[in-house]
Amino acid sequence: MAARGDGPYVLDTTGKRYLDASGGAAVSCLGHSNAAVNDAIKAQLDRIAFAHTGFFTNEPMEKLADFLCERAPGDLNAVYFVSGGSEAVEAALKLARQYFIEKGEGSRSRFISRRQSYHGNTLGALSAGGNEWRREPYSPLLMPVALLSPCYAYREKRDGESDFDFGQRVANELEEEILRQGPETICAFICEPVVGATLGAVPAVEGYFSRIREICDTYGILLILDEVMCGMGRTGTLFACEQEGVAPDILVTAKGLGAGYQPIGAMLVSDRIYQTIRNGSGFFQHGHTYMGHPVACAASLAVQTYVEDNNLLENVRLQGAALKNALEATFGQHPFIGDIRGRGLFLGLEIVEDKETKAPFDPARKINAKVKAAAMDAGLMCYPMGGTIDGQRGDHVLLAPPFIIEASH
Ligand code: PLP
Repeated sequence: MAARGDGPYVLDTTGKRYLDASGGAAVSCLGHSNAAVNDAIKAQLDRIAFAHTGFFTNEPMEKLADFLCERAPGDLNAVYFVSGGSEAVEAALKLARQYFIEKGEGSRSRFISRRQSYHGNTLGALSAGGNEWRREPYSPLLMPVALLSPCYAYREKRDGESDFDFGQRVANELEEEILRQGPETICAFICEPVVGATLGAVPAVEGYFSRIREICDTYGILLILDEVMCGMGRTGTLFACEQEGVAPDILVTAKGLGAGYQPIGAMLVSDRIYQTIRNGSGFFQHGHTYMGHPVACAASLAVQTYVEDNNLLENVRLQGAALKNALEATFGQHPFIGDIRGRGLFLGLEIVEDKETKAPFDPARKINAKVKAAAMDAGLMCYPMGGTIDGQRGDHVLLAPPFIIEASH
């Protein structure tokens, strides 16, 4: 049982201390018990804890919206606050559909995504993801979504193929799928700029996202980027897509937004979508009781202000590079570590049984559970997961330490 948090450490009820090297699941980007964030939460509680958005907006929500829009890429100038990542993805899928209805393109109802992706556990978000073992029991309840190859160079790049050519080849799968189904039937393509839970911190190769953006524009399809895990500074820039030089039409974010101090997620929306709906029905046909929750917004605003005022993204870049070097020095030659990758403080190690053939361990050996148990024994929180490789589960470990991490930790 977790009892207390102290900076990058979590203490359990026996007094044992764990270094939180994964932020839970890339959530706790400020570590634990940050006094400035706790004070902001208490102060907001003393003002007002809850005011329904059907009646009122509230100050922390307005300020947080301005904070995000001023810093977001492209023309993402409208924000919709929810309580987490899956809710943000659901909102994005529905908004994309409503946008096309209001534009008079009601034939557009389908989404395209990628294999080995994760966009959340609610039914819409689960439909949009390509995580086979999570989807399988619920498959009769899910909407059909075409799944393309992930931009996962370690396993998908062909012998002799350059990184750039590989990226163009897998990006072009989007165009092929759009033409196969008919552009007039497609709403949006959704993917993560740096794949988290299902692959273990896998960024795309150079040129992939520019080509994806180009294809979406050619066929009038929206690009939804899911930065629930990789966003809010985790990769060294506030938004992960900044490093790709592309701006999406809709961006969803969550985990690092509130850093675990309160549950919050957000959907950022382009002017084009916002204006179409504003000038049309004037109303996004969606909503949750706790959207724009004042205490959650106050916590998130305090988190984001703390990150900016303390120049923590610089630390993400510096410590991220140092940690990656250390991982390469320690595990680069390890017989069971096939790949070390990631950006900023979002790093992954892929575990393989055979480095030459990249064959994963048999899932029955439950390697990720063993790694997690051994790390917890040693007082370390890391995030081992099994993805799906060629229909088989493979293993990786995700590291996402807090942005306050220092070399001494
Ligand atoms: N999208 C991505 C990329 C995620 O990593 C996750 C959670 O891990 C989600 C969506 C779902 O977020 P939540 O668990 O807050 O519903």
